[in-house]
Amino acid sequence: MQRKKYFLLAVGCALILSVNFSNAQKKSKTTADQSNNPYVTPKLVVGIVVDQMRYDYLTRFWNHYGDGGFKRLVSEGFNCKNNHFNYAPTSTGPGHTSVYTGTTPSSHGIIGNGWYDKESNSNVYCAGDDLQTSVGTSSDAGKMSPHRLTVTTVTDQLRLHTQMRAKVIAIAIKDRGAVLPGGHTANAAYWFNGSNEGNWISSSYYMSELPKWVRNYNTSRVIEKYKKPWTTLKGIKTYVESGPDDNEYEGLFETETTPTFPHSTPNLLSKKEDFEILKSTPYGNSITTDFALAALEAEKLGNNGTTDFLAISYSSTDYIGHKYGVNSKEIQDTYMRLDLELERLLRALDKEVGEGEYTLFLTADHAAINVPAYLEKQKIPAGYFDRSVFYPKFREFLHFKYGTAELVKNASNNQLFLDHKIIQNLDLGLREVQETLAAELLSYDAYDRVYTAYQMQHSEFTEGIPYILQNGYNQKRSGDILMVHKPGFIEYPRTGSTHGSPQIYDTHAPLLFYGKGIKNGSSVTRTEIPDIAPTISALLGIAFPNGTTGTPLEMVLE
Ligand code: ZN
Ligand code: ZN
Repeated sequence: MQRKKYFLLAVGCALILSVNFSNAQKKSKTTADQSNNPYVTPKLVVGIVVDQMRYDYLTRFWNHYGDGGFKRLVSEGFNCKNNHFNYAPTSTGPGHTSVYTGTTPSSHGIIGNGWYDKESNSNVYCAGDDLQTSVGTSSDAGKMSPHRLTVTTVTDQLRLHTQMRAKVIAIAIKDRGAVLPGGHTANAAYWFNGSNEGNWISSSYYMSELPKWVRNYNTSRVIEKYKKPWTTLKGIKTYVESGPDDNEYEGLFETETTPTFPHSTPNLLSKKEDFEILKSTPYGNSITTDFALAALEAEKLGNNGTTDFLAISYSSTDYIGHKYGVNSKEIQDTYMRLDLELERLLRALDKEVGEGEYTLFLTADHAAINVPAYLEKQKIPAGYFDRSVFYPKFREFLHFKYGTAELVKNASNNQLFLDHKIIQNLDLGLREVQETLAAELLSYDAYDRVYTAYQMQHSEFTEGIPYILQNGYNQKRSGDILMVHKPGFIEYPRTGSTHGSPQIYDTHAPLLFYGKGIKNGSSVTRTEIPDIAPTISALLGIAFPNGTTGTPLEMVLE
């Protein structure tokens, strides 16, 4: 009986093998006929991150978009409609890093824009590096590097795969929007130094001096043409997809008395020679496209005989969202103008690299909440967290319970960092203290959920808010207690939007793929930000970034 089974098994295997073998023969013949390389090799990959772009900016302003920008990407590419950040905090540093590493802060180590560093007992900035010197400026704005990033990026893997022949250039107004996408091995990362300079700069991490084309670009003062008022692109009456221009939910520029168009940015510019202000106008995005196109040409990206990578991040959308909020005329105008920037970029790529010869993706680094003061007015539960109310009460509790408030070393990114030495000296258990404090915090109206580091380390969450928190929780770098505000509640001024929470308004962001190797279509199947890097890696046939936890999206690949 036993023997017979084995015999049948052996025959079965032989049959399968022979079928597979003949299939393989057929396949290899047809493949050889078409090409020697089964992988898609675009001349250039373009990664675009739009800072603070919500998914519904695609749909809300759809009727105002032209055919050559967002609409071209959606109608000819692949639209992932249910794409999310799967970790918190949803902020710029973690966002850019997760897009390019295919994993979350739990693995890549960028747990915030800045955080309290337990080892050095100080606050650190995600891209800051005091060991570097600035290149292209006498200020400290260039002292940056990816040294706090603990894994590789898809851009690193492309460099490794091609023996460093692939060129990787990363560009953004914000330093972290360029440094983190470029990974450890980028040929260059450039960011914009506003202040009184208005130049594109870099760090000694990448180079000892700016290349000639960047120096020429800076001295050409292209930037000067953006010293003009910010007016609406089309008649403001046609902007029916956003709220009234004059309202109490928007911030003001220094010289303004109402938050209304036209914005008098040039007054300020000429008065203070302050290019910083351009970041908070759509011109910041135009400045970014200008420089990206200059890089495309000067570095011959896509024309170097291997696949190159251009990482672009549009940062001004975030500054404007923070100032005016999700529902403002300013945000609408910014996205209508960004659509034209995309059209300009795509046209240049068609011309310089060739239509159908490049692959592109567009996503965000986080989304944003509608202004809570506005939501409140519409009878939607929302509001503001007030430290000045909460802190004295909590400090009082710490004194009462432990005789000292020094037990809490730092509160940042909705986490508490406890002083483990004091806890030891008091002969207390860390887990016990975490649980006591978590229970106290949960009794406050401001918090909806509170978790301990112990829970993060000893459970495996698979869905909902705890899953999102766990993906953001880094065993070495994160705090002892993780707090979550009620949906609709933020710690922020009463004007403008912000982000950072694990709530769906901060996690739902666009994800568009376009170009060589990409299918045409759309899907409402859930995708997550860490899926992007392995999808691009699979398309290129290169090794995945070394911390990858995402999965290639088969539905978008041809
Ligand atoms: Zn951001
Ligand atoms: Zn922001």
